[in-house]
Amino acid sequence: MLIVMRHGATAEEIEKVVAVIKELGYQARTMPGAQRTAVGLVGNDGRVDASRLEGLAGVQEVIHVSKPYKQVSREWKGESTVIRLGGGVTVGGAEVVAIAGPCSVESEKQIVTAAQQVREAGAVILRGGAWKPRSSPYTFQGLGRPGLKLLARAREESGLLVCTEAMDPEGVRWVTEVADIVQIGARNMQNYSLLKAAGRCGKPILLKRGLSATVTELLLSAEYILAEGNHDVILCERGIRGFDPTTRNVFDLTAIPVVHKLSHLPIIADPSHGTGLRDKVIPMARAAVAAGADGIMVEVHPDPEQALSDGAQSLFPDQFTQLMREVRVIAEVIGRRVAEPAPVSA
Ligand code: PEP
Ligand code: MN
Repeated sequence: MLIVMRHGATAEEIEKVVAVIKELGYQARTMPGAQRTAVGLVGNDGRVDASRLEGLAGVQEVIHVSKPYKQVSREWKGESTVIRLGGGVTVGGAEVVAIAGPCSVESEKQIVTAAQQVREAGAVILRGGAWKPRSSPYTFQGLGRPGLKLLARAREESGLLVCTEAMDPEGVRWVTEVADIVQIGARNMQNYSLLKAAGRCGKPILLKRGLSATVTELLLSAEYILAEGNHDVILCERGIRGFDPTTRNVFDLTAIPVVHKLSHLPIIADPSHGTGLRDKVIPMARAAVAAGADGIMVEVHPDPEQALSDGAQSLFPDQFTQLMREVRVIAEVIGRRVAEPAPVSA
């Protein structure tokens, strides 16, 4: 439930609304807006008596949020959320961000080289998993904590921000020490104890859509993170399981405008896992930016043929350079711009 205050409502009137919400046994979240302040009532189980709030001084209207998810919905917050990362990088505003790097961290040389290459091409965030949720237990599972150290090294060398995956609540603690964005992978989208840990970790979260998750389920998972107090959630469309084996997944481009309509949270696109095929990644990355994605996440490897995971969908560095040139032009056509890495200080 959302209590919208009149334009010019006084601080005392807002405080009174907050006090009544608390008295009713719920949490209140005050959201100052450009025009008017709104107070969200969190934890509504459908039994709140709206008349207690409607009659208070300064209250314009009480809105019942119709969606099963509340705090992530546009009904709750009309303005798009802009997430501020380090180094002046923002996600969800006018800028389109590129997150790029290998599927997994393999060695110091590999990750540092990849970081330098993607930075050179124009990425602002380095990706690379230290823990890999692989379909087969016999494939490379990632380097674990030593992999995080290598990511920290690559961060130092390149100045890029780092986005990497945590697979369990303990991993969230470790990843939080190094990463600028904590990634929750597709296979863990509905791992509720992990979502709660992510909600308490104090770092922005990248939440990937589950392999067979609906958009509503994706938004409900994001709601878990916001409900724990972390409002910095970036959603990610990474393809869903279809019946056609021609591509690894069905890359659901429509999810981008659909999510933008339903939620104020930013959404980026991962055409690498979305298609699984190197030559399909490039056109779908371009399409995602044209569709309004707030960023792209692309797997790029210094030597894809030697990659320990997802080599077939990893771009060669020069392909990524070309892709970045193209997406800069596409972003401009729709009134946006691609975020550029800060110049390296001498
Ligand atoms: C990844 O981005 O490294 C990854 C494993 O992707 P997903 O969770 O979307 O499969
Ligand atoms: Mn991968």
